[in-house]
Amino acid sequence: MRKTISIIGSGFSALSAACYLAKAGHTVSIYEKNETVGGRARQFKKDGFTFDMGPSWYWMPDIFEKFFNDFGKSTKDYYQLDKLSPAYKIFFADDVITVGDHMDKICKEFERIEVGSSKPLRKFIATAQENYDIAINKVVLKPGLSPFELVTKETVTRLDRFYKTLSKEVRKNFKNPKLISTLEFPVLFLGAKPNQTPSFYSFMNFADFGLGTWHPKGGMYEIVKAMKSLADSLGVTFCTNSNVVKINVDNKKAQSITVNGKTIVSDIILSGADYHHSETLLDTNYRQYTEAYWESRTFAPSSLLFYVGFNKKLNHIEHHNLFFDTDFENHAEEIYDNPKWPENPLFYANFPSVTDDSMAPQNCETGFFLIPIAPGLEDTPELRLQYFDLIMNRFEKLTDQKVQDHILFKKSYCVNDFIEDYNSYKGNAYGMANTLMQTAFLRPKLKSKKVDGLYFTGQLTVPGPGVPPALISGKLVAQLIQKNEA
Ligand SMILES: Cc1cc2nc3c(=O)[nH]c(=O)nc-3n(C[C@H](O)[C@H](O)[C@H](O)COP(=O)(O)OP(=O)(O)OC[C@H]3O[C@@H](n4cnc5c(N)ncnc54)[C@H](O)[C@@H]3O)c2cc1C
Repeated sequence: MRKTISIIGSGFSALSAACYLAKAGHTVSIYEKNETVGGRARQFKKDGFTFDMGPSWYWMPDIFEKFFNDFGKSTKDYYQLDKLSPAYKIFFADDVITVGDHMDKICKEFERIEVGSSKPLRKFIATAQENYDIAINKVVLKPGLSPFELVTKETVTRLDRFYKTLSKEVRKNFKNPKLISTLEFPVLFLGAKPNQTPSFYSFMNFADFGLGTWHPKGGMYEIVKAMKSLADSLGVTFCTNSNVVKINVDNKKAQSITVNGKTIVSDIILSGADYHHSETLLDTNYRQYTEAYWESRTFAPSSLLFYVGFNKKLNHIEHHNLFFDTDFENHAEEIYDNPKWPENPLFYANFPSVTDDSMAPQNCETGFFLIPIAPGLEDTPELRLQYFDLIMNRFEKLTDQKVQDHILFKKSYCVNDFIEDYNSYKGNAYGMANTLMQTAFLRPKLKSKKVDGLYFTGQLTVPGPGVPPALISGKLVAQLIQKNEA
């Protein structure tokens, strides 16, 4: 039966759900508080420079392809995808590791650092590939309704991969600290420390070394444009500058939303906004999770970000660069265990104009710098400036060049902006972490247990943080709505 569906927010999960629900024949409208769609994947343009403000790593190209295939389309119909070669560079205090676009090149680099390490690497990645196949084909496409969803022939015979940590597995096979950091890096995308993340999540290592790092020409916002164009063609209505202030419930059934002073009635309400915020739009008695519940969860980090326009081409950098020249353990402790501004943080720098001319004016460089920090930290202009100086000085030293006199402009973004722009819980950047106790059925649910006709999607529910999981989250909730309501 054709239903009217109001969707709150226009992040990847909401866009994905909107496409599936519209394809199933429903009348779908999206209400987004900001001026543009795409959620955290916004774009900032200035003086010929283009910055992706949120996600910048295009991993798991198969998930994007499958999404568009579900609508008889391909990514090729919307954007040009290039495999980055090399994928990225990691700067350590005394060396630089270059991660190539192929296992043979990566093995060669591992051998350079530690003789004999390519053999355990190939074995580790073979297991990671097996985990990837199980995760993507058997586990991740489940709606997180019951623990039994995780019980498959493949998972029960590999139970140890769920209680052993990734950290332990990596350290069992590799001794060199630089190789350990290289192999522990991918699970940071899941938002938790590698010693809190089950080794099953080594599928992220296969995504990294096996599937490679890609770049949509023009930047990550091309994906948003593609999904918006698909949604438009399926008849989805977009209302931007539409801040939803209330989900109205009557007789335990979601009836309408209040937006820009109007009451919009629909059969179903789906929120793709931050789950915690979405529940605050309900009267207290209709909320499923208490403040104490959210307080007890492990959240993915927030970030201090800088978008910088340089008036020259920079040296010794790649499209993606990780600066792991300081102690990761200390920084991780300052994010998770003892939240405070980090003393000597690791950071990440992205220069898309290295491989894509369209991202910066001629002979200029577009720079995006990210420092992961604990969510909820005090955020002041002075602190932002202090950290900008700190990382610029380290960047200059490690890449052996002067850049600070070549800055045309810079814009910062941090906790207060995440809260203001996205209603993000404590200013988290990418949702709730995927620890063992926050996986699958242990995450906040896609369907409200207290209000009929009310659903949720996005990085705080299943499957978790990241763009590919957001695409899957939208599909899962659309399937659940179709099953329960149509
Ligand atoms: C700095 C940064 C770097 C990242 N890097 C990567 C990466 O490299 N690769 C990767 O795969 N992932 C990355 N991620 C994670 C990825 O971007 C997110 O997991 C994903 O975009 C989340 O999508 P979502 O649909 O859950 O929600 P969001 O993108 O948060 O969208 C929610 C939307 O709801 C809107 N909204 C909120 N409240 C209301 C309201 N009351 N009324 C109307 N609208 C409302 C918000 O404005 C927003 O547009 C990164 C994230 C950040 C922030």
